[in-house]
Amino acid sequence: MIRLYNTKTRKLEEFVTLEDSKVGIYSCGPTVYSSPHIGNLRAYVFVDILRKTLEINGYKVMNVMNITDVGHLFEEGEEPRLGQDKLEYEANKERISVWEIAKKYTAEFLADLDALNIEQPTLVRATDNIQEMIQLIKTLEEKGFTYKTNYGIYFDTSQFSNYGQLAGGKDGIQPGVRVEMVEGKKNPTDFALWKFEPAKIDLPMRQMNWWFEGPFAGQLVKRENWSRVPTEFRQTYGFPGWHIECSAMAMKYLGDAFENGNFRGEQSRTIDIHTGGIDHIPIHHTNEIAQSEAATGKEFVKFWLHNEFVLVDGQKMSKSLGNVYTLADIKQRGFDPLALRYLFLTAHYRDKLNFTWDSLQAAQNALNNLRVTVRDVKSSGSGMMDKFMEALNNDLGVPQAMAVFWEAVKKGNGEDILKMDKILGLGLEKYLGKSLELPVEITELVEKREVLRKEGKWKESDKIRQALEQMGYAVEDKQDGYKIKKSWLRKARVKLKKKTAI
Ligand code: AMP
Ligand code: ZN
Repeated sequence: MIRLYNTKTRKLEEFVTLEDSKVGIYSCGPTVYSSPHIGNLRAYVFVDILRKTLEINGYKVMNVMNITDVGHLFEEGEEPRLGQDKLEYEANKERISVWEIAKKYTAEFLADLDALNIEQPTLVRATDNIQEMIQLIKTLEEKGFTYKTNYGIYFDTSQFSNYGQLAGGKDGIQPGVRVEMVEGKKNPTDFALWKFEPAKIDLPMRQMNWWFEGPFAGQLVKRENWSRVPTEFRQTYGFPGWHIECSAMAMKYLGDAFENGNFRGEQSRTIDIHTGGIDHIPIHHTNEIAQSEAATGKEFVKFWLHNEFVLVDGQKMSKSLGNVYTLADIKQRGFDPLALRYLFLTAHYRDKLNFTWDSLQAAQNALNNLRVTVRDVKSSGSGMMDKFMEALNNDLGVPQAMAVFWEAVKKGNGEDILKMDKILGLGLEKYLGKSLELPVEITELVEKREVLRKEGKWKESDKIRQALEQMGYAVEDKQDGYKIKKSWLRKARVKLKKKTAI
């Protein structure tokens, strides 16, 4: 039995799927206008552990994550430019197109996932799903949940009776809600589903706008073409709000909510799990629930799971406080990205994690120690998986699971270590039982060369042989594999050098 803490009910609940052994997880992903910081990365490691735990329990997981490349505006406390689209702002600053900004930071995000051994989710881009967002907004319009102002189409939260339930009811969402004080809004908690471009005259002309009405609804209006938009459609062309993207994409990819581009309303399916950081509870996820359930008339998501924050010196890691660290910062100081993953594994996902360089150093030391220790493991011992899974299945009790894992390491249970590491993701496979004194870089090169040889790429494999010789290792090819020896070439060179120096 797996138990998970559901933010919606504020209880630990037994996890049950809505359909056989399949699980759909929707995870709020990055806004690709800057490098992810390590707080964001914690959210993605948490999702990785969640999916792998479900998988080892026999579930078939589909994990969808959105790439926000439009519509996420700066909020209060998040200056530089309140109300401006984060990507458009960065594009103006870096003087490249908004599409290039998205491409650049998406690539960085993917590299970070890789470095942290996070299995890549099914990634979906907001700008590829504008049609569906428009469909959803039009459904809400038909059902009477919206109103128009000069600035956009807004969701009327007073029309949705359960508004704010996720955050503990209407009272729960009032304090701390950073409402946009926009003229024409009926209730402070109302939010934009669609924003009109023409109203934003005080900001630079946007690069990303779409037709909302007419035969070209959902198509991009290029900046240079905006004057060709017929006057009757000029009032409504613009871009989607941030919340609607997650509703549309979650329901499309996991709720089967669109058929031939048409919204299926109540025929769509409830989604098993939705994740995100705790900052999303009072606004983003509250609004996702409101607009999705208003459109379908049924439950949007069964389990809501939220990870706590990474803090720095007791404060939330955030750009405006200037205490943001990225994976690049960590690497620059000589740490292995997996030391960060190790650090994340030391805390439960619902506990705050205070980041310090000392704590990262401690994690790096523990990881090094682990690597050295597992090199000497020779047995394929097992028997501790049940205890390990018991910890994980209890609301992802990773710190407890880590204690069991270390026990298995000390006992030298090779089989357990490998299985456990499939979830923990510390990349121990290449160290386990490899007690020869070869440095990992050398083993990696030799393995790379073997692959090339099998593919018949002799030239490239020869280059690696030469590189290995330069580093002092000779590879002898055998019929059933290879043998590595310390190379005489390097020794000879060293001697020669000494001679000339004298
Ligand atoms: P964003 O790119 O800001 O939309 O954030 C991506 C994900 O990271 C979201 O799930 C956020 O809730 C989460 N997140 C943001 N800041 C932190 C933090 N300091 N610690 C942990 N998670 C965070
Ligand atoms: Zn989201």
